[in-house]
Amino acid sequence: MGPHPQTWLKTTPAGLYCEPGDFYIDPLRPVARAVISHAHADHARPGHEAVLATQGTLAVMRTRMGAERAGGAMQALAYNEKIKLGDVTVTLHPAGHVLGSAQVAMEYQGAKAIVSGDYKRQPDPTCAPFEVVPCDVFVTEATFGLPVFQHPDAADEIAKLLASVALFPERTHVVGCYALGKCQRLIGELRLAGYDAPIYLHGAHMPVCETYRAEGVVLGELRPATVAAKAALKGAIVLAPPSAIADRWARRMEDPVICMASGWMRIRQRAKAGGIELPLIISDHADWNALLSTIREVGAPEIWVTHGGEEGLIHALSRLQIRARALRLIGYGDEDAE
Ligand SMILES: [Zn+2]
Repeated sequence: MGPHPQTWLKTTPAGLYCEPGDFYIDPLRPVARAVISHAHADHARPGHEAVLATQGTLAVMRTRMGAERAGGAMQALAYNEKIKLGDVTVTLHPAGHVLGSAQVAMEYQGAKAIVSGDYKRQPDPTCAPFEVVPCDVFVTEATFGLPVFQHPDAADEIAKLLASVALFPERTHVVGCYALGKCQRLIGELRLAGYDAPIYLHGAHMPVCETYRAEGVVLGELRPATVAAKAALKGAIVLAPPSAIADRWARRMEDPVICMASGWMRIRQRAKAGGIELPLIISDHADWNALLSTIREVGAPEIWVTHGGEEGLIHALSRLQIRARALRLIGYGDEDAE
């Protein structure tokens, strides 16, 4: 094996910087060459001169930022396709987080480092499943890096939602969920559960759904939800951003059942404080057990832990004789720590 990745993979306030290849991974400031793991706003920023990402990520970036702001030269790389950036070979592997999400693998003189971005191990009908890739350094998220965070099967949570819809046919179920990833996954899970009625969306949720469709994800019939037409929404499922749950939008529906789909719903006080009547523990991030099992499976002798519960995870890894250290990246975890 050549030089240790620590000598060529650096952290700066702009993100992870890969020296022999002269590129940044998920940088916060515009740079000459960026590799973007996925299109959430705390990973994908506008204005880079050149962007390398999967086709799905580029499509969502264009939708959310506009083609102009999304970046200069936009280059799509398929999963498992290799590309040379300087002396570094870069490969993108599925991360199972949202459409197009990728782990960024970098190989230099026989040593491999992987920046996994955000990831999960639960199945998701709207994106490719996480791929285990053995490596020498694995950079992991730790959004839910405490043992209390155990995500149940999404299908069980969806069954709770559908049971409530059946129990209260006159009420409107308004489910708070993030616009990129969670919204489409909920739709996909509802379809898998056999729910084939139209699903209603807050205006903020429509554009990314259209992008998912254009990328070949089947979502069934979607209709816009407006407070003006609230009578027609009796008995329906409405998906809306968490901000619309927090303000009056959701409460102006007729006798709404306020729901929220998030890994944080494991914490009951959090659901209660947010006025959530029906919390659904559905997350696009690995839970505690999935973090530990993933780290074991990739087999890296060294783990770098970023955004979230670094301390808890590093402590647990040290007890398993796995060397780990915290990597604090400014600005991460802003958007989608759900
Ligand atoms: Zn994310």
